[in-house]
Amino acid sequence: MTERLPLMAGNWKMNLNHLEAIQHTQKLAFALADKDFDAVEVAVLVPFTDLRSVQTLVDGDKLKIKFGSQDISQYDGGAYTGEISGPMLSKLKCTYAVIGHSERREYHNETDELVNAKVKAAYRNGITPILCIGEPLEIRKAGTHVAHTLAQLDGGLKDVPADQAESVVVAYEPVWAIGTGEVATPEDAQEVCAAIRARIAELYSAELADKVRVLYGGSVKSSSAAGLMAKPDIDGGLVGGASLDAEEFVKIVRYRE
Ligand code: PEP
Repeated sequence: MTERLPLMAGNWKMNLNHLEAIQHTQKLAFALADKDFDAVEVAVLVPFTDLRSVQTLVDGDKLKIKFGSQDISQYDGGAYTGEISGPMLSKLKCTYAVIGHSERREYHNETDELVNAKVKAAYRNGITPILCIGEPLEIRKAGTHVAHTLAQLDGGLKDVPADQAESVVVAYEPVWAIGTGEVATPEDAQEVCAAIRARIAELYSAELADKVRVLYGGSVKSSSAAGLMAKPDIDGGLVGGASLDAEEFVKIVRYRE
């Protein structure tokens, strides 16, 4: 089995202006600066207006923190007012782009087709997609959460070739757990994360699925991180609210200690 490097990614959502972003990133960098700390990859997923500030810090100080955007246009350029393109994001050295977050699916009507086009746009531009999938409460209550989530996975990865898909990061985020304080149990999260890996094995190969990092997201806190991370198919966390508190996020990153 491949050793997958755990990834803890902070999704700032629409919080922190470009000055606050500098302060926050510096705090994280300071707290994670010890030389030996490379047991976990740390990323911040920031508003577009913060990208340049974070990039300058990370570049200049050779910080270990990676960064990315919370969305990407399906187009590489042109008359698409308000959109931000893959070439713009790769010029800013984004490692990641969050794609298909449930808040974008819900408030911006993003479909699996659009999510798939954005995944392809990310790969075209050398950016690793963090593909978000997960079921709303009514689907969980109906017991069809695995099928629902796997259909979103199929949609997001449609026609994505294996040499690209092997680097995808999949974030399982049950909608009922996002921003609600109601974290999934490690067993519930593991059930779906294992199903995601099994489907990737069906779509590509077991070898490829073994390399892919599957994150859990939904009200992760320092008190729940270690329990979730103990599960074999959970390779990290997509952390929203708790990533805005630098001390708390660092505790989540250091879940092993
Ligand atoms: C998220 O924004 O992806 C998320 C999981 O948020 P929270 O941790 O606040 O539930």
